[in-house]
Amino acid sequence: MPALYDSLLSVSGIGPKKAALLEKMGLRTLRDALEYYPRSYDDRTRVIPIAELREGERACIRAVVGTTPALHRIRKGMELTKCTVFDDSGTIGITFFNNRYYAALLREGEEYLFCGIVQGQGRMRQLVSPVYEKKAPGENGGIVPVYSLAAGVTQRDLIKATDAALAAVAGEYPEFLPGYLLAEYQLPALQYTIAAIHRPQTMEEVADARRRMVFEELFLLCCGLQRIKAVWREEAGIVFQNTDLSAFWDALPFPPTGAQRRAVEEIAADCRKGCAMNRLVQGDVGSGKTVVAAALCVLAAQNGWQAALMAPTEILAAQHEQSLAPLFAALGFSCVLLTGSMGAAEKREKHAEIASGKAQIVIGTHALIQKDVEFRNLGAVVADEQHRFGVGQRATLRQKGGQPHTLVMSATPIPRTLALILYGDLDVSVLDELPPGRQPVETYAVGEKMRPRIYRFMEKQILDGGQVYVVCPLVEEGELPLKSAEQHVLALRRALPHRRVALLHGRMKQADKDAVMAAFSAGEADILVATTVIEVGVNVPNANLMVVEDGDRFGLSQLHQLRGRVGRGKRQSYCILFGKDKGEKARERLKILCGTNDGFEIARADLAQRGPGDFFGQRQHGLPALYVADLAADLALMQSAREEAERLLADDPGMEHYPELRARVERMFRSTEVFN
Ligand code: ADP
Ligand code: MG
Repeated sequence: MPALYDSLLSVSGIGPKKAALLEKMGLRTLRDALEYYPRSYDDRTRVIPIAELREGERACIRAVVGTTPALHRIRKGMELTKCTVFDDSGTIGITFFNNRYYAALLREGEEYLFCGIVQGQGRMRQLVSPVYEKKAPGENGGIVPVYSLAAGVTQRDLIKATDAALAAVAGEYPEFLPGYLLAEYQLPALQYTIAAIHRPQTMEEVADARRRMVFEELFLLCCGLQRIKAVWREEAGIVFQNTDLSAFWDALPFPPTGAQRRAVEEIAADCRKGCAMNRLVQGDVGSGKTVVAAALCVLAAQNGWQAALMAPTEILAAQHEQSLAPLFAALGFSCVLLTGSMGAAEKREKHAEIASGKAQIVIGTHALIQKDVEFRNLGAVVADEQHRFGVGQRATLRQKGGQPHTLVMSATPIPRTLALILYGDLDVSVLDELPPGRQPVETYAVGEKMRPRIYRFMEKQILDGGQVYVVCPLVEEGELPLKSAEQHVLALRRALPHRRVALLHGRMKQADKDAVMAAFSAGEADILVATTVIEVGVNVPNANLMVVEDGDRFGLSQLHQLRGRVGRGKRQSYCILFGKDKGEKARERLKILCGTNDGFEIARADLAQRGPGDFFGQRQHGLPALYVADLAADLALMQSAREEAERLLADDPGMEHYPELRARVERMFRSTEVFN
């Protein structure tokens, strides 16, 4: 009798070679196989009369082979095997590509079930690369799971592996979700779910099983995050006694917005409380998150603690230092910038200042501060642009600096329901108000035909004293016909020869990047051609026109971020998106941006269109991977899962009554190294 943790080598038909290939896919034990869910299903229960087949569909027919399969060589390395089959309603051609031995097993005059994709119309109609099997009348082909494969691994291998795994848990696979939840949400039990996912009888079974798995996945996630939050709450944190910020408010060049004031008050209250703050500030681009970050740094400094402000890029770190150092100095606090491109001697000097406590506020990149720096007494940490800063990273910092108050700032606004789930370990402040006097950026989607007019428009803005960003998706000419930044610089220099065009891209040396950015900021260039390195945080208020090349190549939220680089000064600002002529879908997407400047609305549309994987840039959110949940489609179920997790943890913070559940949660968070 195989056991769940046995190696896949114990499965008959899987030898060492195959096992090695499977291990590369992350499948080592029967349990791994059990949790390797099908990518999709081939529904062979519905047999369709040939006359009713529709082009483009994957379909199943029951038909008799009318002609012996014949081989056609098209060109080298490409051969087709073709035959004709018929049922009561009509005939259709069958075509196999480079699969003559499989095709040759078909016998003229015999009946088979064929499942494949219908291509072409009329007499040209055919079923392409079908699978076939012999089935007695009345028997159907069932529902066949389709697993994702890797080189050298076949569907048959995965069927074998999952068969063995299912056998190993037959009759006893302990349920870990509390029974009351199964009843309340009418979710199937684990035993049923796992069988239905791998070997469903009907597609309804698949739907039921999937619902349970979505709930389960989000419930585990929420339990884990809640647990982390609870543990952190229990530990004693640094207390900031002096939370009077009136000098700080007075030193700002403008009155804070109501939202900024609220967020800062929430932060100050957290810092007084006696446990470490763990807060997320969500605010649209331009909502003024930097002020909030500065407030926390000042709070730390005036209580005798050091603060670290971490930016995702060196450009941004340098910019923060430029704008904040004078403010800190006015309040009597010292501030140092630490960048990777500094010389060894300079770095050593800064490190010494930080270690001695002479540097009260430290600004640098995430990587730098997390890895290399020894603080004397780190009391507060701000991570700017949170979507690149996951749970695991937060934990690392925490371990390094004792229990510093932590503030993460996200410029990717996401719906509140989603924020509460994905950032379940954090408290959330929302900056839902822009500084006064902001004019919305006028946005237009245009096609190639408009290019000469756009060049004239650029010229006009520069003539009026403005500056222009041109954003391109790639640096070098790749296989796709995208404008590379370098090429685009040449084109612009031809079109506007009297204008100063600068180039900025991710592969330049840091010092060169800084120099280009500083020059543009000082008005020494009219046009800055850049890749998305300028996406986060860059602040040049005089720039009032952004032209995005191949706008259809970017995600909506990313375009919104990019667009946030303009509209920061007093000038009316514009954003021109090329790519309107790239088809229906591109047009639809770009239209959303033209219609609104509201980041939350755009994020919602983006999430609905692309799904969470792309939205968060794979695993950028730093949480355990979600395999089944579709964060846009399953919102209601998600919300229930979160509420239930909260309720359960409130009664039983250690999940003592549910050891199986606790084990599952720990397993889910194992890879993030925050749970113990
Ligand atoms: P975010 O980081 O949220 O995108 P920033 O902090 O970079 O936004 O602020 C954007 C711009 O708005 C900056 O030029 C900043 O000086 C300005 N700003 C911030 N808060 C205010 C305010 N309360 N009143 C006027 N201008 C503000
Ligand atoms: Mg910012």
